[in-house]
Amino acid sequence: MRELRTCPVTGRTVLINEGWWAAPTPPPPPPDLCPLCHFSHPPIATAEGLRVLPHPNPALGIEGNPRPIQEAGQVRMEAVGAHELIFGDHAGINHGAALRLGRQRIQDLRRDKRLRGFRLACRLIPGHHPVWQLWAFPFELRPSAPASWRDHQLEAGKNVLHRGEGTLAMPAWAPRVPFELWLLRDQGRAGFEAEDPSNIAELLTKILPALQQRVGAVPIDLVVEEGEPWRLELLPALKGDSLLEAATGIPVHGTSPEAALQFLRQS
Ligand SMILES: [Zn+2]
Repeated sequence: MRELRTCPVTGRTVLINEGWWAAPTPPPPPPDLCPLCHFSHPPIATAEGLRVLPHPNPALGIEGNPRPIQEAGQVRMEAVGAHELIFGDHAGINHGAALRLGRQRIQDLRRDKRLRGFRLACRLIPGHHPVWQLWAFPFELRPSAPASWRDHQLEAGKNVLHRGEGTLAMPAWAPRVPFELWLLRDQGRAGFEAEDPSNIAELLTKILPALQQRVGAVPIDLVVEEGEPWRLELLPALKGDSLLEAATGIPVHGTSPEAALQFLRQS
């Protein structure tokens, strides 16, 4: 089977070719001294056993003026923003608490009028200290289109992996990596800041162990993607290393969403 799929929500195109098998990327071994367990800094905020700390080497810094600078036809600006870490104990993390705290931090950071685009994500690496990261940018990050796609899928009564309380998990229409899953509300179009993320976090807690077991001990990225509605994307590190993707930007792999669904349902 060879198929080119364009996602109706993100506009991304993916090439799925069953002959292209993605090899799992083994996770890096945990460091001898966990940097998070040995990171002492006064927290920016705390809640439900979690702390928010500034990243020790932030991608974006709070000092500066993000005024665009025109120079010989090019534009640049100072990378003004924020880069924070949200974590608790080494052994595990309450994702609901992390998402609630992340949402509260976004609302706090919004008071700084320079900051306009926000992103929350977590790379879960087996054996490593789980930590969410928050970035604030001096411009809006482009939100996805409305997910009427979700409503069509629901009407068709297919492609749902799991239903939670007002929530559902479904494979992405055009997955960038095998087993890319989206967790989202089953109705409404609320963005991330507009509603309590607890129900989606509960669904995540149910889905994650089964997904991890099925894909093996590879890292899984969790990304809060803004849109109408917002969603939580689960991206296992099963990325192929292809020249085609380097040349075209189009991800290529061998697992269709339908095959992924069937495989995940067997667990
Ligand atoms: Zn640790």
